[in-house]
Amino acid sequence: MHLPLDLKGATFEQVAAFVAELGERPYRARQLYRWVFARDAASIAAMTDLAGSFRTRLVGLCAISRLRLAHQHLARDGTRKFLFRLQDGEAIETVLIPTEGRLTLCLSTQVGCKLACDFCRTGEGGFARNLTPAEIVDQYLAVQREVLAPGGEKITNLVFMGMGEPLDNYADFVQALRILTAPAGLHVAPRRITLSTAGLVPRMEQFGREGIPVKLAVSLNATTDEQRNRLMPINRSYDLARLLQACRAYPLARRDRITFEYVLLGEVNDTPEDAQRLCRLVQGIRCKINLIPFNPFATSLYRGPQPERVQRFLDILVAGHCTATLRESRGVDIEAACGQLRTSAPGLAEAAPLALHG
Ligand code: SF4
Repeated sequence: MHLPLDLKGATFEQVAAFVAELGERPYRARQLYRWVFARDAASIAAMTDLAGSFRTRLVGLCAISRLRLAHQHLARDGTRKFLFRLQDGEAIETVLIPTEGRLTLCLSTQVGCKLACDFCRTGEGGFARNLTPAEIVDQYLAVQREVLAPGGEKITNLVFMGMGEPLDNYADFVQALRILTAPAGLHVAPRRITLSTAGLVPRMEQFGREGIPVKLAVSLNATTDEQRNRLMPINRSYDLARLLQACRAYPLARRDRITFEYVLLGEVNDTPEDAQRLCRLVQGIRCKINLIPFNPFATSLYRGPQPERVQRFLDILVAGHCTATLRESRGVDIEAACGQLRTSAPGLAEAAPLALHG
């Protein structure tokens, strides 16, 4: 065991093993876990109902890390964007999106991203490092703690659509999911969590075997390999046929379906032919299609689609019996919309640019 153990990045089983190694009774693990996750304790000293002798033993053997909230922006539509500073000076962004009856938190899993999608700001910024399980989980705890009033609003849904490709940080992402869903701790229902992937097919298949029934979203964004190779270089490794075959075989929970995210880029992938091809591609897959009109940023190579082309695209999908929705852009005025995130906070210019999954 590496000491000190960061309790915030540990599964319940790891904390139980740690407590057993200390020769302590098993119920101590449950107490510790409750303090760290259900009660969000900042330190061992804050765990006031633990015996003083036990707390003394813990000091130096374990720690509880915390993200530092460096900046936040509030958009006119109520969307909030948070910039967290990590211990090594890197920065990440997390976005809180209120919609009717829901409060959804969009989490990051990496500082930057290796996949370099052509329409995404993260593609421009490159990759710095993976987030640890504690850094992933603490985005949830920190927003709940520092932004939402105690006993007031609660985050209802989590989407892994922030900076980075979750399946490219596989072990840490899965560990974070196990922590978030642990009944002894935060106990977030898996059906309230969505994993969004750009199509790292072998990892998608591996994840399907983990038995964690979170919802799956796949960033598709193109209807031919030629187009997708250009927009999403990951397609050169795992082409559309391979990706869609993995989607067909994915072990969905009963009544669940895959969401295909499709960013509409003006006059690039928003033609009637694209819509018809999209309908054919997803045939036989229990799915819905989420259309996202692109929000251009200063250096982007692409523009947003014309509203009438968006409507036409949607109409073709519906006429082809596809379940399709149009996602309104949230937080556009604070650059928190999909593909728009970046560190624009004063004094944070040195941080890596950020973007959301398409
Ligand atoms: S869209 Fe997602 S996978 Fe592609 S570069 Fe951006 S963060 Fe990475």
